[in-house]
Amino acid sequence: MPPYFHPRPVNGPFEDPGLFIPFLFEKRAILFDLGDLYSLSPKDILKISHVFVTHTHMDHFVGFDRLLRLLLGRDKNLFLCGPEGFFKNVEGKLAGYSWNLVQNYTNRFILVVSEIHSKHILTRHYPCRTQFEQDGQTRVTPFEGKLLDEPSLSVSTVILDHKIPCLGFCLQERFHININKNRLESMGLPMGPWLNDFKQALYQKKSADVIFELPMPTDKEKKRSFKLGDLANEIAIISPGQKVTYITDAVFSEKNIAAIICFAKNSDHLFIEASFLDKHRDIAEKKFHLTALQAGSLARKAGVKALTVFHFSPRYAGNAHILEKEAMDAFYGIL
Ligand SMILES: [Zn+2]
Ligand SMILES: [Zn+2]
Repeated sequence: MPPYFHPRPVNGPFEDPGLFIPFLFEKRAILFDLGDLYSLSPKDILKISHVFVTHTHMDHFVGFDRLLRLLLGRDKNLFLCGPEGFFKNVEGKLAGYSWNLVQNYTNRFILVVSEIHSKHILTRHYPCRTQFEQDGQTRVTPFEGKLLDEPSLSVSTVILDHKIPCLGFCLQERFHININKNRLESMGLPMGPWLNDFKQALYQKKSADVIFELPMPTDKEKKRSFKLGDLANEIAIISPGQKVTYITDAVFSEKNIAAIICFAKNSDHLFIEASFLDKHRDIAEKKFHLTALQAGSLARKAGVKALTVFHFSPRYAGNAHILEKEAMDAFYGIL
């Protein structure tokens, strides 16, 4: 069964962190962290609808300019989420350029920025056409862990300690819909974008009696209609949704350990930093980072299915395999 999310690190493990997550059969992606983005093609960057930034140390936020540069001429909203103080960081970036020509742009590109606090979320809009001056309103919503809640997926966050607040993120599919291709073929139904509409109708919990129409490729039979429930019984195979978790820049404290294990519980794939070898755990502690062994043991305790480690210290350049081995040994319980 092909998964819905296809997460891949933006860069190599010694370079800036970031996880690019495109969605199957959709021109859409989500990005965790905003380090250097030059390894991503413009085509991929243009798919990004939401960016979730763990914290604004430079290696996690330096990609802002590249992202903005490519999206400037677009007719869309870009959603950016970050920790406390994030407005100041975004506004500082925007203040670095002259915007005297943008009021002539025909597109209505808007940056929608949210700042996550322990009890609430603050949101501001920065429209391109008004030179990214925020529209004067700060919207306040209660924070209960979720940053994005759509019929088919959600993004949650946990606030971790990295001497400053640092956010962990989790993207979760509500449930997975697979299409029975053999059944589709035997019913004489074509593959096509209508399958996405069909899946969305199921996610939106539309009534089983709703009539669902699908276009046919030949003129002889332009459309066929089914009751949504009947079509689902014929061609949809439902299974548990996919869970992808991203954790970086967190000290190995009692509080962080408990929070990470709970947050990453049973993930299909955990991406977690492993900045140092465990023999350098004193340095890791001083810099508020995890060691490879700590990362592997957290993954093991959280019961995740797959583990990828990243954000290696340059002191191990050329020796990525040593950090990977230490993390994997801890993950499989060998260490
Ligand atoms: Zn950091
Ligand atoms: Zn970092």
